[in-house]
Amino acid sequence: MAASPKPRARTSPTASPAKVPHVRVAVIGSGFGGIGAGVRLRRAGITDFVILERAGSVGGTWRDNDYPGCACDVPSHLYSFSFAPNPDWPRSFSGQGDIRAYLERVTDTYGLRPHLRFNAEVSEARWEPAQTRWRVTSAAGEWTADALVSACGPLSDPQIPDLPGLADFPGKVFHTSRWDHDYDLAGKRVAVVGTGASAAQVVPAIQPKVGRLTLFQRTPAWVLPKADREISAVERWVHRKVPATTALRRAALFAIRELQVDAFVRRPGALRLVQQLAERHLARSVADPALRARLTPDYRIGCKRIVISNGYYPALAAPNAEVVAAGLSEVRGSTLVAADGSEHEVDAIVFGTGFHVTDMPIGAKVFGASGRSLAEEWKGGMEALRGSTVHGFPNLFFVIGPNTGLGNSSMILMIESQLNYLIDALTTLESVGATALQPTAQAQRHWNQRLQHKMERTVWNTGGCRSWYLDGAGKNTVLWPGSTSSFRRATRRLDLAEYDLIKRSAVASVSAAQEVSA
Ligand SMILES: Cc1cc2nc3c(=O)[nH]c(=O)nc-3n(C[C@H](O)[C@H](O)[C@H](O)COP(=O)(O)OP(=O)(O)OC[C@H]3O[C@@H](n4cnc5c(N)ncnc54)[C@H](O)[C@@H]3O)c2cc1C
Repeated sequence: MAASPKPRARTSPTASPAKVPHVRVAVIGSGFGGIGAGVRLRRAGITDFVILERAGSVGGTWRDNDYPGCACDVPSHLYSFSFAPNPDWPRSFSGQGDIRAYLERVTDTYGLRPHLRFNAEVSEARWEPAQTRWRVTSAAGEWTADALVSACGPLSDPQIPDLPGLADFPGKVFHTSRWDHDYDLAGKRVAVVGTGASAAQVVPAIQPKVGRLTLFQRTPAWVLPKADREISAVERWVHRKVPATTALRRAALFAIRELQVDAFVRRPGALRLVQQLAERHLARSVADPALRARLTPDYRIGCKRIVISNGYYPALAAPNAEVVAAGLSEVRGSTLVAADGSEHEVDAIVFGTGFHVTDMPIGAKVFGASGRSLAEEWKGGMEALRGSTVHGFPNLFFVIGPNTGLGNSSMILMIESQLNYLIDALTTLESVGATALQPTAQAQRHWNQRLQHKMERTVWNTGGCRSWYLDGAGKNTVLWPGSTSSFRRATRRLDLAEYDLIKRSAVASVSAAQEVSA
């Protein structure tokens, strides 16, 4: 790894060494969001930044989720940066290892190593109004920064339900995103809790080796077949020799996904055909009518994230597997008690129970101009302007902020749109001679009113399910109710009419310089 350059302090050349280094931008997180931010900052000529990562390497989701079977459910050529195409994707849907390796390569290719600070969990970021800057406290030290980018990930802090008796369970317990590779599941009685994408990938990967697999299913998932295959050596050779073919492949995948959006967002009834495909997939995979009934959802397809798998149903139909059509409600010693009262003896529990999504953990650590935390600000539900900026939190930019998630396409498209917005904001600030900006309360309110109005007819709100897209009050603060192209248009340029500008006074500049050099 290249040596880290000293972050530039806002001091004169003759001043004593800075105690708290100052950077123009502090980025939190080094998944696709943080790495993408680093690349785009450098391309915009901004090199005075740090990327603070709590773990010991880059990768985010694709570093943490190394459970057996972990893979992407968006095709590889679409689930990658537009500026860093990879002609060598080995499969049409990438596995975790290949995506993680891709992010490591992007980090090297774009010279991001000097900016990275590992084992630097951010515990607090506080806006200092008098100095018009952020003060960021991390496990690796303190920084001040003109702008703060939160790229902490929507799915990075695992959620394990607070179950009575769980603390006294004598066996092994872990979450899919914190897999314990030292624990051998071979021959063990294993409970998998949850039926989301992670649980559905784990089940077929471990079923052949465990002694008994018990799936605790509160709600069944709709499952579609996965058209995964190896990308042949010839295809890869063509992609390498004629880069336009990689771009063409990506464009085709993009267009297909974009066409599907309308059904999710405006015409949920059109998803009936897709639901029939899923019903046929279930009928073909599971012969036992009782099991088939247990696995048939009672909500419209698309309301929850659709699982894409060829192995999930066959694994659940295997003789050593059992589907308990009820959630796990209590643990009594090594006995798991389901909500239907049934009891199941197990050696290990694997939780595929998702993440803290609508209660973003970084929210409790970021304090704005009034001294209030984002978490307090968002008590009534997460809200931002264009998914990126928040009134009262100057120069705070989100990558994957509120309502920027997708139900059916590549999150990398949304990340890149938010990066366009970030870079435009930073360059606009420079061109108008301001230090900071924050959205007006009115602009933020209008944006969210329009967004929630569009949300009303989406399948996520009308499909008859309770998903992790909804917060405690039933409000969808996670997904974008439109196409990825419409989000791209909405974030192409920062509209100054939606913002209040803040200029650093001469007094503040002097006191800030004195403080960093004290
Ligand atoms: C199992 C799984 C499968 C998925 N599959 C798909 C898919 O098929 N298609 C799709 O589009 N999306 C998928 N996603 C969503 C995926 O999270 C996004 O596509 C994308 O990887 C998010 O990138 P990110 O950089 O925003 O967040 P992350 O990749 O989560 O990175 C966030 C980083 O921030 C760090 N961090 C968090 N808090 C702090 C802190 N306080 N201080 C310092 N560092 C911190 C974390 O350690 C992490 O490295 C999947 C997610 C999971 C969990």
